[in-house]
Amino acid sequence: MWKYYQPVNVMFGEGELENLVSHLNHLNVKKAFVLADSFLVENGLVKKIQQKTGAVIGGFTSDIEPNPTIQNVESAVNMVKEMGADCLIAFGGGSVMDCAKATAAAVAHDCDVQDLISGMQINKALPIIAIPTTAGTGSEVTAGAVLSDKEKGIKTAIFSPAIFPKLAIVDPVLTYSVPKKVTAITGIDVLAHAFDAMTSKKANDVTDALALQAAKLAIKNLPKVVSNGLDKKARNQMSKASTIAGLAFSQTGTTASHACSYILTAKYNVPHGEACAFTLDSWIKFSAKIKPELEEYAQLLGFETVDRLADWLNHQKAIFGLKRNLSDIGINKNDLKDVVEASMSSANMTNNIGEIKQSDVLKVFESKV
Ligand code: NAD
Repeated sequence: MWKYYQPVNVMFGEGELENLVSHLNHLNVKKAFVLADSFLVENGLVKKIQQKTGAVIGGFTSDIEPNPTIQNVESAVNMVKEMGADCLIAFGGGSVMDCAKATAAAVAHDCDVQDLISGMQINKALPIIAIPTTAGTGSEVTAGAVLSDKEKGIKTAIFSPAIFPKLAIVDPVLTYSVPKKVTAITGIDVLAHAFDAMTSKKANDVTDALALQAAKLAIKNLPKVVSNGLDKKARNQMSKASTIAGLAFSQTGTTASHACSYILTAKYNVPHGEACAFTLDSWIKFSAKIKPELEEYAQLLGFETVDRLADWLNHQKAIFGLKRNLSDIGINKNDLKDVVEASMSSANMTNNIGEIKQSDVLKVFESKV
């Protein structure tokens, strides 16, 4: 038995943002509130869409940190309630989109943000139009949002079909301004999504097909966009890869590379994609022993074996200047126990096709020297 449920209407294309007004009309939006990345306020794009949409956009906030916090959501919730918005526009990377999803749920439920992350059942949310400006998270087509509790030093995910955006406007032009290092970090997240989807218990033929296509596009185009951010064709392909990987893991969830990443971000400030990539190569090799098709997939992706694919990933991390060793992150031997325990406690650790034991996680981290 397998299922595939994907309610997001995806509009993909260079310049698609130009059609925002007609999308708002089509969705009968009366008053929208924009959650935007601060970069888009600085470069005038938020102002531009406000001018184009006239009175429909009633306000905005850009007070959203990378790895959005509970406080970021609380402050957005207050503004949205005060304005009485009937739609949220999430204009930014994964951080902004996730903040918007949590805001949409908290406003509709009239609840505390803390309730959302404490496991409250979410069954309604304000409609969201997601406009990604990074090629990485795929959050525009997923039903999850990841929030950080900085006081507790943890990242927690919330899930509900209610927070799937109504519409995703994926316009690759918006990613042209992403700096080199962020391009690498967000882009490698696409590969983490593709391979986590393939190694999930919930993988099926449809999600494997999506994940393979996403991986194929990213393997070909990520090195190109990192070495030349002005390569429009490659930028376009990376935006496509990001959304397609999102379509895959929106069904399967993520697995070990993500489970191991949260503590690296929450405690050691490693950006999301870089944190996932840190152990990704090891988990692909681990999973290939359980799912032999992964060897066939590696060949379809142009590698002789899964081991060579993992080598390629490691090599790209080195070229991109991403962290590859525990010492790069500042983790010493004494910290390893906590890092492993935190990784094991992530719900997605049990979503891998094979049972992952604490000793497996320790082995993976110990190999990063
Ligand atoms: P991000 O949204 O944190 O943005 C990273 C940096 O890029 C920021 O400094 C931002 O200002 C800048 N930026 C964004 N767009 C830009 C542009 N067009 N030009 C120049 N700079 C730009 O990074 P991200 O990787 O997109 O998102 C990471 C977050 O998404 C994490 O919190 C992660 O946990 C979450 N995430 C969520 C899902 C999901 O399905 N909900 C999936 C993966 C990751």
